[in-house]
Amino acid sequence: MIVNKSAIEMSQLLKDGEISSVDLTKAHLERIDEVDGQVKAFLHVDREGALAQAQLVDTKRKSGEKLSPLAGVPLALKDVMTQRGIPTTCGSKMLEGWRPPYDSTVVTRLRSSDVVILGKTNCDEFAMGSSTENSAYFPTRNPWDLNRIPGGSGGGSSASLAAYEAPLAIGTDTGGSIRQPAAVTGTVGVKPTYGGVSRYGLVAFSSSLDQAGPCARTVLDAAYLHEAIAGYDPLDSTSINAPVPPIVAAAKDGNVKGMKIGVIKELQGDGYQPGVLKLFNQSLEELANLGAEIVEVSCKYFDYALAAYYLIAPSECSSNLARFDAMRYGLRIGEGSAESVMNSTRAAGFGKEVKRRIILGTYALSSGYYDAYYGSAQKVRTLISQDFKAAFEKADVLVSPTAPTTAFKIGEKSNDPIAMYLNDIATIPTNLAGVCGMSLPSGLAEEDGLPAGFQIMAGAMKDDRLYKVGAALENALVNKWGGGILDQAPRLGAK
Ligand code: GLN
Repeated sequence: MIVNKSAIEMSQLLKDGEISSVDLTKAHLERIDEVDGQVKAFLHVDREGALAQAQLVDTKRKSGEKLSPLAGVPLALKDVMTQRGIPTTCGSKMLEGWRPPYDSTVVTRLRSSDVVILGKTNCDEFAMGSSTENSAYFPTRNPWDLNRIPGGSGGGSSASLAAYEAPLAIGTDTGGSIRQPAAVTGTVGVKPTYGGVSRYGLVAFSSSLDQAGPCARTVLDAAYLHEAIAGYDPLDSTSINAPVPPIVAAAKDGNVKGMKIGVIKELQGDGYQPGVLKLFNQSLEELANLGAEIVEVSCKYFDYALAAYYLIAPSECSSNLARFDAMRYGLRIGEGSAESVMNSTRAAGFGKEVKRRIILGTYALSSGYYDAYYGSAQKVRTLISQDFKAAFEKADVLVSPTAPTTAFKIGEKSNDPIAMYLNDIATIPTNLAGVCGMSLPSGLAEEDGLPAGFQIMAGAMKDDRLYKVGAALENALVNKWGGGILDQAPRLGAK
């Protein structure tokens, strides 16, 4: 099956003239027709746009134009990124029917690489959540077990990869929304260094934490996608004006001999599923066998990361989401004064979790409380950055399990916000410090046979190290398993 191949294998077939991009795109659209009724990864499928784009790439290829490595390969886009003329909802009723008048920089770069965009994927409303159950439309289901969550907030993107509806996807990660869905679906996800990939056209949740990044089924595919979207963008004032690290080269190299790998003491133990920890330790052994040196590091302020995040992220969201005022975008309900229209629109347009965060953030920022809450959280953030700095003096990369458990059942945590927040306990520190992180599959947990993730973290603009270590581990594990982890997933659909 063509859809089961990696993006780079598809790219080779396109180059060799074995398949056209139109046929490759059609194969993915058929796969979406076949399984998305069950998985529900997509909010919008842009059949015509995708086929027209594929046709264009085929024409360019025929005329002998030099094309980028991912030219003609399909991709799924998280529905928090704008794409001109294509519905962009952020998983919210607030933006239902809104078609942005401009492309995000990520989309502009995908287009200049001739990547074919299949459609928009489901997510938690405004990317707030860890299960995609907060989408105002429907929950997405985990292809490993349709009664379980695919992670969040980018569950649609990761599920589309695991269900072979797309070989590549874009996610966004504010506190773990690329890495945690990757972990629970048996796929790869990378949160680049903050400022490494432009946020222009990424609908803002928490601007100092939000980061778009690549999702794929293999480390090498993620590397190609990362290089295609990364780099300085004058339209984003926090974009880093420096060369993109040699990501693809690092993924191809995959040599960890002599590298120091730091195991973070605080990111294991209580609250982590034993099978997840066992796979984590087995992965460490693989890396040691490949010649890496494993050291233990302590980052004692990581224990406060979740508390700091749930003050900083809601504070920024309460400010960012003020723009949804019934006057400018999407939904508008009621008549009368501006205040009453705004009131009824925001009451009807935002879901429960978004409202909870706006209230939390407004409170944390209010006069008399600002220093006690927001100010303290920012100080903790600095301490966490210092922990990272000290740890990176002892190790080239840091590692932990990506998420404390495998995928839980739909509905299991939806009434318990704190239990939901705890899914990101191991991913949030990276966002607070602006450094980069990757999740790749570590195996299937013995308790439930579901995939778990191995997280690698590296310093700012050291994203290439993630790929070096990720490729080494992936290679060792795939050899051990005799194939990719998704080969062991239940087969959805007839084919
Ligand atoms: N789950 C975290 C939250 O709810 C992270 C979300 C994200 O990374 N977008 O805020």
